Amino acid sequence: MELTGTRVTVVGLGQSGLAVVRLLIRKGARVTVNDGRRELELGAEAEKLGATLSLGDHEPARFADAQLIVVSPGVPALPAFADAGRRGIPVVSEIELASWFISAPIVGITGTNGKSTVTTLIGKMCEASGKPTFTGGNLGTPLSVAVDSEAAEHGYVVAELSSFQLERVEKFHAKVGVLLNVTDDHLDRYENLAAYAAAKGRLFTTQHQDGFAIAPAGDQLSLSLAYASPGKLVTYAGVDGEVRRQGDAIVDTVSGLTLPIAELGIRGEHNLDNACAAALAARLLGIDAAVIAEVLRSFKGLPHRMQQVATLEGVDYFDDSKATNVGASIAALAGFARAKTKVVLIAGGVDKGGSYEPLRTALEKTGAGLVLIGAAGALIAKAFEGSTLPIAHAKTMADAVAAAHKLARFGEAVLLAPACSSFDMFKSYAHRGDVFRDAVLALQASVQEGQAR
Ligand code: ADP
Repeated sequence: MELTGTRVTVVGLGQSGLAVVRLLIRKGARVTVNDGRRELELGAEAEKLGATLSLGDHEPARFADAQLIVVSPGVPALPAFADAGRRGIPVVSEIELASWFISAPIVGITGTNGKSTVTTLIGKMCEASGKPTFTGGNLGTPLSVAVDSEAAEHGYVVAELSSFQLERVEKFHAKVGVLLNVTDDHLDRYENLAAYAAAKGRLFTTQHQDGFAIAPAGDQLSLSLAYASPGKLVTYAGVDGEVRRQGDAIVDTVSGLTLPIAELGIRGEHNLDNACAAALAARLLGIDAAVIAEVLRSFKGLPHRMQQVATLEGVDYFDDSKATNVGASIAALAGFARAKTKVVLIAGGVDKGGSYEPLRTALEKTGAGLVLIGAAGALIAKAFEGSTLPIAHAKTMADAVAAAHKLARFGEAVLLAPACSSFDMFKSYAHRGDVFRDAVLALQASVQEGQAR
């Protein structure tokens, strides 16, 4: 794609916006950055690269002479985009632009939950195969950074993709597309679940005939999206997935790979499905079963996803701060239910517009209590009206941990799996998890000090 001299407007200057500015300038484009904010943390850096800033609003006049518009994932559908579309000006996402310059096979991973875990697993399998590999996208390094790397030319490009990134793709096509699940999330941005699912479905509709569309067997919504791929549908998990759980092992029924679950590095029921999805994607790329098995053994999971942080008076404390929607919290609770461990759940934060009824159903199966934090606390409490579960409200994470400590008995667990995003009280899910861990460790120290006295 020739971009020399092309006037391009990049909308939204976060990390991926800046990465795309850098790429565009390297390709000879004349770049303007438009952002609704007046002050931009990364503004000076964009200017240093040679971009012009156009800040404060997104009025259509600001896009009048753009020949191409690149939209960052956080930016909603603006009237200016529809206007540009009518004038025949392409409006694309960062991943679309980056993909124009990538010739290596792209593995795209999407879904409501499990993306980062599966992306990391597949990335490690590709690396272990010995080929140059780029792992990034929505996770870590933006896809634009992959362009002109060895991986983009003759290796593998493994990209986590959010629904926001998939909204504006046309020529982008994944050789292997993986959809893990679709449950309520981001309903503050999408009109309904169908609209959110349709954005994820772009992963499949843009594939070519030689592509593979991977979806979980038995998940009707995910399968209906995967059917729309011009490529080959391949399923995992369930009773008839090509890679699935059989007794106490994960088995690839095609390659013969058999890995006892006890040897798997990641824990939790939902991670068995994630392991199957990753193993299937890697096999379709031609990676050896032995390499796949070794990564499944050695990868111990990412921080803030079901990490045990301490044991205090016979109670295990788990940080699953990355559970930012109801589906993820339920998956975490299901693991405890299967192990017959009672849980005190710490939940709450910024509501995303979904229903908390399923959380109530799951927690009533395995819950010993609920501690609510943050802006959505009252809303969640409403879904639990009439429940016999003990419910506490806390203003800070330290209070929440103290309240959970009071509710939990020997042999039970305390789980931070908030079902909400974190921005009301914290900088990010990682910050929330760190504050939780620090609060647990502080409580542990004070309990031990009390015992020593
Ligand atoms: P994402 O990148 O999609 O947010 P992560 O791998 O970071 O996915 O996991 C996010 C949250 O979802 C974590 O709390 C994790 O425990 C939970 N989770 C991971 N995989 C699944 C799955 N397959 N189904 C449901 N929940 C999952």
